[in-house]
Amino acid sequence: MSVVYYSTRSKGEPISASQAILKGLSDDGGLFVPSRIPELDVSLQELSKMDYPGVAYEVMKLYLSDFTEEELKNCIKNAYDEKFDTREIAPIVKTKDAYFLELFHGATIAFKDMALSILPHLMTTAARKNNIQNEIVILTATSGDTGKAALAGFADVEGTRIIVFYPKNGVSPIQEKQMVTQKGKNTYVVGIHGNFDDAQTGVKNIFSDKALAETMDQKGFQFSSANSINIGRLVPQICYYVYAYVKLLEKGEIEEGEKINVVVPTGNFGNILAAFYAKNMGLPIGKLICASNENKVLYDFFDTGIYDKNRKFVLTSSPSMDILISSNLERLIYYIAGNDADKTKELMSLLSGQGKYEITPKMKENLKDFYGNYASEEKTAAAIKDVYFDNDYIMDTHTAVAYSVYKEYKETTGDTTKTIIASTASPFKFTRSVMNAIDKKYETLGDFELVDELSKLGQIKVPNAIEEIRTAPVVHNNQCDAADMKATVEKYLGL
Ligand SMILES: *Cc1c(COP(=O)(O)O)cnc(C)c1O
Repeated sequence: MSVVYYSTRSKGEPISASQAILKGLSDDGGLFVPSRIPELDVSLQELSKMDYPGVAYEVMKLYLSDFTEEELKNCIKNAYDEKFDTREIAPIVKTKDAYFLELFHGATIAFKDMALSILPHLMTTAARKNNIQNEIVILTATSGDTGKAALAGFADVEGTRIIVFYPKNGVSPIQEKQMVTQKGKNTYVVGIHGNFDDAQTGVKNIFSDKALAETMDQKGFQFSSANSINIGRLVPQICYYVYAYVKLLEKGEIEEGEKINVVVPTGNFGNILAAFYAKNMGLPIGKLICASNENKVLYDFFDTGIYDKNRKFVLTSSPSMDILISSNLERLIYYIAGNDADKTKELMSLLSGQGKYEITPKMKENLKDFYGNYASEEKTAAAIKDVYFDNDYIMDTHTAVAYSVYKEYKETTGDTTKTIIASTASPFKFTRSVMNAIDKKYETLGDFELVDELSKLGQIKVPNAIEEIRTAPVVHNNQCDAADMKATVEKYLGL
């Protein structure tokens, strides 16, 4: 039986993969989940002989069951091409104690490119398959990296517009510059006076506004999402875990069937959820290690079974993980509740009402594949410095959070299983924090001077994504209050 999609919050009629991608979020506010997690139907040995697009096809075909082989292969071919600076797409770097899976070789040098370079192709294919005449308006909240990757993916894509909301004071200078210099006549970028959670909640409210949806439809528009709530984001992210495993196998680093651990620096819980899917598809993964920064709501959740967002929001040096409401955790909640939509709905309404819920002991038992911990700002900086001096390898701040948690995990558990660390951004995106961690003497330099120093120190060429924005003119200069996001959307669309 092929995979169809249900909401996490009600057992209504299922919809197809292409419809789930178009809708983004279910009408009841739930997230779409596949009717079952499919098993890999090609052996790991066979997969190990394939390139990235080959592996991606074998994984994605199992989820996107109403796409034809030709449609899906076309989407994959158009996504994983010269936009990436290496044919490997997601290369693995071996250091003394871990394998870094570098997911930042795409157009905007963060792991968001892994999914957002294919999402526009999946979306336009899905629109064609479902005879959609409306223009699709992609509405996106970003903690810094999704925004640019989505803008780059959707810029000037026919039949689409994209509106990005980011926290005005909550992203790195390079991240902001990347977004506000974005070209494309269908692109809109707005800094909001609030944090990422405000942006994400605003976007979710706009999505579930039925009256607005009707007005939109009359004017020939409909919304969709480029956030990781969209399964069109999640499914492409499963592929690189499978790819990483089979490449380690191909290189003789592991034996077939040998379990590996995976460490993921986590914010919205999308990337680590993709690893959870990979494990449940039959990929030999041991522990899923969830690394948070000082916004450690997930660590506390794994520790106590209580999710509580009522706490101070901390601005850290890993801004893409400055999140207190991890949207994708809802999908995990659904699974650990035994695919129980009523229970999920109950807990999610507690979250939106009181900002807090507690899972049952039985549900907590189902979390045993996960280990959660967090890294303070000091530990994150120390990790960058240590790994640079020990391995001559420069990590970005998010990857450093993961590395720090990994070290702590190893020390406290004694587990020596081979481990992949998801390396989610290029250090060039967070130059100031990275260089200051290595040596305080850099503190006085400007943003682009730091870029050049980093290039010298790491003997890495400055990525094109950075060269492009050095002199690019600012073309978006919009701000609004979080409460005015809907009005801003209406203004842009002329509603
Ligand atoms: C988005 C992001 C994360 C967090 O990923 P989630 O899927 O939201 O958990 C981590 N690191 C970087 C660099 C990111 O851009």
